[in-house]
Amino acid sequence: MTTSTTRPACPGPGGYPEPDPTWGSATHAVHAGHERTEFHETSEALFLTQGFVYAAAADAEAAFEGEADRFTYSRYENPTVRTFEERLRALEGAEACAATATGMSAIFSTLAALVRSGSRVVVGRAVFGSTITLLEDILGGWGVVTDYVDAHDLEDWRRALATPADVVLFETPSNPMQDIVDVAGVSALAHAAGAVVVVDNVFATPVLQRVLPQGADIVVYSATKHIDGQGRTMGGAVLGSREFVEGPLRLILRNTGPTLSPFNAWVLLKGLETMPLRVRAQSDAALELARWLETLPRVGCVRHPFLDSHPQAALARAQMSGGGSVVTFDVSVGGRPATREETFTFLDALRLVLISNNLGDAKSMVTHPATTTHRRLGPDGRARVGISDATVRLSVGLEEPADLRADLAQALAAVPAA
Ligand SMILES: *Cc1c(COP(=O)(O)O)cnc(C)c1O
Repeated sequence: MTTSTTRPACPGPGGYPEPDPTWGSATHAVHAGHERTEFHETSEALFLTQGFVYAAAADAEAAFEGEADRFTYSRYENPTVRTFEERLRALEGAEACAATATGMSAIFSTLAALVRSGSRVVVGRAVFGSTITLLEDILGGWGVVTDYVDAHDLEDWRRALATPADVVLFETPSNPMQDIVDVAGVSALAHAAGAVVVVDNVFATPVLQRVLPQGADIVVYSATKHIDGQGRTMGGAVLGSREFVEGPLRLILRNTGPTLSPFNAWVLLKGLETMPLRVRAQSDAALELARWLETLPRVGCVRHPFLDSHPQAALARAQMSGGGSVVTFDVSVGGRPATREETFTFLDALRLVLISNNLGDAKSMVTHPATTTHRRLGPDGRARVGISDATVRLSVGLEEPADLRADLAQALAAVPAA
């Protein structure tokens, strides 16, 4: 390699910026975790490889004895996956991060590392549907007991956590009703009951909410949502203490194999570069749309954490730096909640906003929770969390807000008046 004699040396090893813990999140999102190869590439290298080779048999022996710190097999670790983990770790401000194939494998592996037969898990009632299936139909069969609470109600947590527990798990804001959980309050109650606090932070992302400094122990993500943000790959991640992530969690991940593919890690890594910008823009647009929706006669209750009308607006503003990219609202016909058919008429009339069960995408999407994501709760369970046939969840993307308003207005107008 030749070096210029006329140019002064750049700072940092190899002349590249060295990660600096004082960087802001946008800078971490662009640079953190990038270890350049000898080719000095601009964009992160994609190590699409299952394995790694050894110059000599003794090197393989040293690696398997754990004497050599090197990559051995991509089910265990891969350089591109590690770059993604390191970038997300820096964004979250956590000690350690492990990537997984999906959000559900992040949640399953975390719970598998924390529970035994006879363990008690206390869960916010409105968590993601597959999480309930996991707790009831899979872990339930293995002797794990799950109790549910109304997650926005600190008194309900206090009652549930008067009995010892092993794990507390919740989402805040909740899906789709945007209830806010008091992270510090619930964490204190959980710790007193002997439980580890796991937060599914998918709705807020690390851009809008950091739960570890507020008392939570572990954060899980579906990277499928805002981290990719462009509808391409599945992925997940678990963040927390080095002791947990590199200990019991890695044991499960390495030996059960919910490994993030290096290709998907690379896509997600590029997703992280623009995530702070995307999420803030989507969150601002969502609040703007929510305020506008509140003025429409064809719309009933509107829910967004940063609306002044949100019953927990003060708590939301204390815990989050933005309210998030999702707006939930009821379609209203002649002052009453729309029927399922009327709500479907509205959804089917949308031309720009897509009907999809996904969220966090650059493309705006609507979901009818009662017949899709929250079908499993049943009518009583849905009524309990406030989901009716009139309820619509809107994931706000990156389109011009004026175009979204126009589309929503024409689709609301398409519902016949009662
Ligand atoms: C999507 C989602 C999950 C599951 O993530 P996958 O990547 O689909 O496995 C878990 N929790 C929440 C809140 C989600 O939105």
